[in-house]
Amino acid sequence: MRTSALKKDFTHHLLQWNRKLNKRHMPWKGEKDPYKIWLSEIILQQTRVEQGWAYYDRFIKTYPNITKLAAASEEKIFKLWEGLGYYSRCRNLIATARYISSERKGIFPDTFEDILALKGVGSYTAAAIASFAFNLPHAVVDGNVFRVLARYFGISVDTMSSEGKKQFTMLANELLDKKKPGIYNQAIMDFGALVCKPQNPLCTGCPLKNECVAFNKKKVQDLPVKSKKLVKTKRWFYYLVIEHNNQVLVRKRTEKDIWQNLYEFVLLETEKSTSPEKLTGTGLFEQVFERGSFRVESVSDTYVQQLSHQTIEGRFLRIRPKKMPVVEGFEVVSLSRLTRLAFPRFISRYLAEMG
Ligand code: SF4
Repeated sequence: MRTSALKKDFTHHLLQWNRKLNKRHMPWKGEKDPYKIWLSEIILQQTRVEQGWAYYDRFIKTYPNITKLAAASEEKIFKLWEGLGYYSRCRNLIATARYISSERKGIFPDTFEDILALKGVGSYTAAAIASFAFNLPHAVVDGNVFRVLARYFGISVDTMSSEGKKQFTMLANELLDKKKPGIYNQAIMDFGALVCKPQNPLCTGCPLKNECVAFNKKKVQDLPVKSKKLVKTKRWFYYLVIEHNNQVLVRKRTEKDIWQNLYEFVLLETEKSTSPEKLTGTGLFEQVFERGSFRVESVSDTYVQQLSHQTIEGRFLRIRPKKMPVVEGFEVVSLSRLTRLAFPRFISRYLAEMG
């Protein structure tokens, strides 16, 4: 089949599948309010739909419009975001809400370029908002779209290369139904999530299989081509939960590192895995406590959290000091206040298990 006919067929079959067979329900689907679309897209940037759904519902319930979100305290917003990870999204969410509320009188921008200029909004998110809320003809291009297009058209160019990104973006915009860009964009995202999945795509029942190059040439497993392999660094965190008179020491992380703006206990980071016994005998411990002025009440099991570029592994040492030590940068808070602070998942899992 000629390429132009193949392209036409793709769009036609995709929209037909969407009309007749796509039963995927999501609370933000068909939404026209740019605030709600933006919120859902920011939540979904690094999060699966199943996990993001409940967060979206809670955010919309608590902050039904951008003015309400802009007026809320950082602490409350971070608490609501707790557990979603990738906290730079939350910082950008707050900054953008406040910018739109104060500089644009609460009115969301309505051009692709102005949407793209918002903090935390990349070309994918801008295309999604522009097409869903304002019916503007911009195609979404992400891993889902790379996969569907690479397979259907049999493209083996590396999707991680700049040439690949350029080629897929051009093709995606050519295929876009310019009259119904929102419906088309949602359809290709749903199709990639439900049918042309990364593992075990449903080729046998796929309405696009007759023309799909990868299916007909038995190359489905080989496409898309992704070259870059992620190298993860490993870090060891040992948290000292120093508890005295129903109070503990915490601080807000402010460095340019993971978990910025989230709270944590006193952290001893080591270069390799170590035993709690070894740890309490090191100079690191003496920086916090005078010799013999504490006892280790319990040591947790090992906790692991996978981040995109790092693996965090570590344990929690619950410590009873004779008096609360003064540790620079840390504040003393009551145990009851802990429930109102936002912690990284690594810590909140420990707190949940400790009750
Ligand atoms: S036939 Fe298989 S590989 Fe081709 S578009 Fe359909 S699901 Fe994807």
